Amino acid sequence: MNRFDYVRPTSLAEAIAAGREGSAFLAAGTNLLDLMKGGVERPERLVDISRLPGLDAIEWSADGAVRIGTLVRNADLAYDARFQKAFPAVAEALLSGASAQLRNAATLGGNLMQRTRCPYFYDVASACNRRAPGSGCDAIGGENRLHAVLGWSEHCIATHPSDLCVPLSALDAMVEVEGPHGRREIAFEALHLLPGETPARETALAPGELIVAVRLPAEAAAFAGHARYLKLRERTSYAFAVVSAAAALRLEDGVIREARLALGGVAAKPWRARDAEAMLAGASPSPEAFAGAAEAALADARPSGENGFKIELARRILVRALSLALQGTPEQTPALPASPFAPTSGASHVA
Ligand code: SF4
Repeated sequence: MNRFDYVRPTSLAEAIAAGREGSAFLAAGTNLLDLMKGGVERPERLVDISRLPGLDAIEWSADGAVRIGTLVRNADLAYDARFQKAFPAVAEALLSGASAQLRNAATLGGNLMQRTRCPYFYDVASACNRRAPGSGCDAIGGENRLHAVLGWSEHCIATHPSDLCVPLSALDAMVEVEGPHGRREIAFEALHLLPGETPARETALAPGELIVAVRLPAEAAAFAGHARYLKLRERTSYAFAVVSAAAALRLEDGVIREARLALGGVAAKPWRARDAEAMLAGASPSPEAFAGAAEAALADARPSGENGFKIELARRILVRALSLALQGTPEQTPALPASPFAPTSGASHVA
């Protein structure tokens, strides 16, 4: 591991001042410290924000919107009773990620900023445009069955690993960031970037900017009665998604008034399926309507290697997530959250 400076600011202003080029912000460190030990990340300075005051609150507005501080732990958010009731698909996604120990430590902001799990990215002997721009991409032509099928480029075919980010994208979350030039907001869908020609640029954050909170609008709670996150993984816990889907429906008189859909594990960012959402708006829910939406969601998909199977898998998991959402959000998160093998299917849920 390289030598680095360590600073622990006592205010947000101090943290921003310390977060100059070459620095990295440290919260729980569940991803960053692994990257540093492996020589993948070599910050000159760690700015430890883990004890900054005022960034670990879950705050509710009178209209039902919620603002989640960047240091709120994944487990604390997932088990917050009011949050679980209003945004059950987000809680289900949170509880499907990592392990109980990691969820107890990992923070909201860290989850959003985690890096890809592409194995070549972690192997410093491999060519990787994301880690070392211009070096190439050993995943292309290599072991790539879990890589991207949407939005990839010839420079990078990695996927974003987060579960949490998938329903946050579907529900139109907003990200509050603070940096050297003040505070601004970024629509969640615009936070993570597709690789294009510059895969090393992974987010819309400017140098020195720090995520301070995520907000979910009050309208997102209107989907609470019919919202699911479904995740297919190679083990039933402690595994990243092969593919996943967040599906949320707002029904009136048996008709879909509004649908929200996003896929995980298919691209370098959570993949919002807006064309599929538009097809479902005003439709009667049916297997045919869901299959048509899934076709639309994957219309632009193409294999980036030995991963063509993910396209059909993503279609099927989207149909399954929509079918479960139609049945109704379970009163309690299933024992195997987000798993298609969970014993609990849908049940009526009163938001
Ligand atoms: Fe690096 Fe992306 Fe290629 Fe993986 S897919 S080796 S992260 S450039």
